[in-house]
Amino acid sequence: MTEPLKVWFLASEVAPFAKTGGLADVAGSLPPCLKSLGVDIKVGLPFYRTVKDGSFEIKKSFEGLEVPLGDTILRGDILETSTEEGVPVYLFDMEDFFGRSGLYGTPKGDYPDNLERFSYFCRAALLFAKETGLSFDVVHCHDWQTGLIPAYLRTLFKADPFFSDVASVMTVHNLGYQGLFPADKLSVCGLPATEFHLEGIEFWGKISLLKAGIVYADAITTVSPTYSQEIQRPEFGLGMEGIFKKRSADIYGILNGADYHTWDPVADRHINAHYSLGNVKDKGQCKAALVNELGLDQRFADRPLLAMVSRLAAQKGCDLLVEIARDIVELDAGLVVLGAGEDKYERFLIGLGKKYPECMAIRIGFDESLAHRIMAGADMLLIPSRYEPCGLTQIYALKYGTVPIVRATGGLDDTIKRFDPVSGRGTGFKFVEYEAEAFLDQIKEAVRLFEEGTNWMKLVENGMRSDFSWKRSAQEYLYVYDKVRKTG
Ligand code: ADP
Repeated sequence: MTEPLKVWFLASEVAPFAKTGGLADVAGSLPPCLKSLGVDIKVGLPFYRTVKDGSFEIKKSFEGLEVPLGDTILRGDILETSTEEGVPVYLFDMEDFFGRSGLYGTPKGDYPDNLERFSYFCRAALLFAKETGLSFDVVHCHDWQTGLIPAYLRTLFKADPFFSDVASVMTVHNLGYQGLFPADKLSVCGLPATEFHLEGIEFWGKISLLKAGIVYADAITTVSPTYSQEIQRPEFGLGMEGIFKKRSADIYGILNGADYHTWDPVADRHINAHYSLGNVKDKGQCKAALVNELGLDQRFADRPLLAMVSRLAAQKGCDLLVEIARDIVELDAGLVVLGAGEDKYERFLIGLGKKYPECMAIRIGFDESLAHRIMAGADMLLIPSRYEPCGLTQIYALKYGTVPIVRATGGLDDTIKRFDPVSGRGTGFKFVEYEAEAFLDQIKEAVRLFEEGTNWMKLVENGMRSDFSWKRSAQEYLYVYDKVRKTG
């Protein structure tokens, strides 16, 4: 019998323990699916305050791991918990680094010692494995926070027999976050100065931890097929297109899946009424409850209700929303926004909510439970992203019979098919040019279809029938692991 493939899956956020966005959803639901396919998988995550304060069953796993950082040696503990499906999750404790209110920073900006924090996490993850004899075939890293790991395997640990058969996979969830730090801090991460060059971790005179991952990993994946192509072009490559082009033979675009244990109106524990294809009309109860909860005018229990659940960042197309927000009032549609992010968007939206309290509900902050109730209660979900590596909210929206209105980019383009009233096929509305008018046209068309009735139900049901469960994508990851594997 062949040994199961052993994977060490390292991420800076994992749902339900710590979450700021889609990375957490992926890191929380892909490992259990890989486990069900026979992979021996273990997950590693920093022991943030949110994890400590949560109601998770946690036990100590290792005490006093010595981890070099710059010219000091830190001693940290490793704790252990597990996902509901029994995947072990190791938590890297270092109170000075992770015992804070945020994961990466405060609303004012990033923590100034993020290089120290995540260098520690990366190095500790490898040293812990070695110290405890936790052998693995593949280390799967995610985004800049874990980008140093492939670099460490090719440099610091290159000659160490414990790591000689370990392959690395780097998944890029969002190229917009490159993990950039001043060049003079190279000693913090412990890489030799000889790695600071164009083919190494240097990026326009700075250290880029994301680039480290991309350059040194055995394979690179992106979270949708279209994004894997887009990043090789200047428009989306954000200066790294040349690096990706060079590695194009090792890049795989694998669409994210949805965790339907968490995101399905049949059993969602956050929503007011459960529904499925057989009783879509019960979605109306969720809508009425949402209208009440948010204090919108009662007529919006019947009028179109538009929503956005998103980080408030330029990437998410917030500028387009700002431009057309008042037109939504003209259409006599309601608008619900749940988001947090850049100050200028937050302030604009708060002002808008105050001006139109009857038809607009703006909630600034991160609220997992409300996100579910919006997904169930709204009629349409707006995702006008400038770029979108995959996007999960449109995939969740489909399951809840909430029609996505998206820009045709990255994973949004891969997952949403334009509705054609003649054939009755399609799952949403799409526009191509990043222009407010194009966005508004699609909203108007959606509102018209909603008012007309019959075709709307067809469209809603098409979405609810779509299936983006993890299994197929997880099998694609297995293929990549197998490609890079040096053992077995
Ligand atoms: P990204 O990872 O770029 O932020 P995704 O669409 O991949 O975007 O994933 C976003 C995830 O974060 C979804 O689960 C979404 O419901 C959630 N989310 C985003 N903003 C909020 C918020 N303000 N409150 C609660 N959940 C949010």
